[in-house]
Amino acid sequence: MPDIDLPAAPDIEGATHLHSGKVRDLYELPDGTLLMVASDRISIFDFVLDTTIPDKGEILTRMSLWWFDQLADLVPNHVLSTDVPASVRGRAVVCERLAMYPVECVARGYLTGSGLLDYRATGEVCGIALPAGLEDGSRLPEPVFTPATKADLGEHDENVSYDAVAGTVGAERASQLRSLTLAVYARAESVARERGIILADTKLEFGARPDGTTVLADEVLTPDSSRFWPADQWRPGQAQPSYDKQIVRNWALSPDAGWDRASGEAPPPLPPEVVERTRSRYVEAYELLTGERF
Ligand code: ATP
Ligand code: MG
Repeated sequence: MPDIDLPAAPDIEGATHLHSGKVRDLYELPDGTLLMVASDRISIFDFVLDTTIPDKGEILTRMSLWWFDQLADLVPNHVLSTDVPASVRGRAVVCERLAMYPVECVARGYLTGSGLLDYRATGEVCGIALPAGLEDGSRLPEPVFTPATKADLGEHDENVSYDAVAGTVGAERASQLRSLTLAVYARAESVARERGIILADTKLEFGARPDGTTVLADEVLTPDSSRFWPADQWRPGQAQPSYDKQIVRNWALSPDAGWDRASGEAPPPLPPEVVERTRSRYVEAYELLTGERF
């Protein structure tokens, strides 16, 4: 298990720090609502790097907000306000505090990553049998719900069957999470496709209000939670170019980095040009998808 050393979450006046994940810091506000702050941290291979990507937290926050709007008729979301303390303006939202379901709700329309590994080993992903002959990047006959358990900091998420989810949250909730996840994927996939981007897969998190209503939470449809591929470069049978941390991953694995992934050590600091190219890639994804200038 890699060691995760997170920088201390900054103090925010009037807010109590609750939790820090690899990328986000969560605070409680005096009225019981949450302040979710997206940092500029970047993680690859479950390591949080020492180098940050300028504006990443703001880009991802704005992107999530844009998507929540696109999805508002499908499912309620946790956002209450973007009126946040000045020190985190632009990179934070005030949201409802929900009882989170302990399930990473993943939808896949294309096969890659852990889904591909499972398919190669068993012909299935999360207990769903897939046709023979699929390759890295193949489009699936139809999008599938491939849930995972939420791992602790530094651990990998683990793909689980639908029945395992039903065992955890109950049959009715499981069915609701599956249909909501697939509905969000279908909507987002078509929005992205109009803009020349393939949404290969996405991870959502839902939680419950005190009255039991299921609400979409966390971040949505950002390059940290989803795989976006330029549609005109899609070639099944190989790793696809992607609007995410691929530049950083490729650099870390290249001889230039002088890093041994098997060493258990975090990758070295990123050179400035890798930082700049990665930042540009996030900006590009934001601008292409939303049609807005960052
Ligand atoms: P990582 O993503 O690095 O594996 P993580 O998921 O614990 O770790 P972050 O994603 O950085 O960390 O932090 C966001 C945390 O806030 C997650 O645990 C997520 O489940 C939780 N969360 C998101 N929205 C809400 C909400 N509305 N109410 C309660 N918890 C929430
Ligand atoms: Mg998370």
